[in-house]
Amino acid sequence: MGVSTNTILQIQNLEKIYPNGHHALKDISFDVVQGEFLVVIGLSGSGKSTLLRCINRLLNPSGGKILFQDQNITFSKGKRLRKTRSEIGMIFQHFNLIPRKTVLTNVLMGALSRTGILKSFFGIYSKQDRDNAYKYLEIVGLTGKANQRADNLSGGQQQRVAIARALMQNPKILLADEPVASLDPATSHSVMQYLKKVNQELGVTVVCNLHFLSLVRQYADRVIALKAGNLLYDGKPLEINEDWFKTIYGEEAVEVTIN
Ligand code: ADP
Repeated sequence: MGVSTNTILQIQNLEKIYPNGHHALKDISFDVVQGEFLVVIGLSGSGKSTLLRCINRLLNPSGGKILFQDQNITFSKGKRLRKTRSEIGMIFQHFNLIPRKTVLTNVLMGALSRTGILKSFFGIYSKQDRDNAYKYLEIVGLTGKANQRADNLSGGQQQRVAIARALMQNPKILLADEPVASLDPATSHSVMQYLKKVNQELGVTVVCNLHFLSLVRQYADRVIALKAGNLLYDGKPLEINEDWFKTIYGEEAVEVTIN
């Protein structure tokens, strides 16, 4: 009620308390608009990863609400949860590819929620899935690498394979948990540019955790900042001035730029 039709995700008073009592998310509320490129920043341990894992329900929230496409998914289970997960793609810091399999096989694994484990095990994919796999490999600039083993690729290329794999789910939203944290600066930009391309050309909404503010300024439409589980800032990247920087990262912090 009263929500604009282009809001894809609503986080309302979200709480996460881990079983050991650690209060990792405290009363977090924000909306994500369809097609937005939202970046989450904050010091290590501020709750960024916990937030993404609550959104795709790898973790169960302790309180509050998550509405995805106007459906309350906070505590959904079974078939409903599987459907939600299939509409939310995820990219991880360490790519999580199967190293000895080909690039194409890794991308096709993204269709698992449709194909089923047995068919996937025997490599039985539909023509549609294969066509899509090649289409997404082209989008991430890796057409020529389809038959190479994943572990023969550079880190940045492996992360691009992971993006293509996530696209196989035909996700409405892509969550990226520190996608460039294991990469060097030049490669980081390349991966961010492909994420931005996916966002702009396919219209997939992106929510991405990042360390470096310089990357945030270049790629984010909007940024939220977490500190010790609290939401400190929600606004435009360019409005994060020196004062905000110190508030978010601490008085001692010095900005490091990635060129
Ligand atoms: P970030 O992604 O910003 O580095 P995390 O979401 O990984 O932060 O962690 C937020 C806080 O929750 C940290 O203090 C971390 O130690 C704690 N934490 C993360 N996972 C667990 C867990 N499984 N059990 C207890 N505490 C955890």
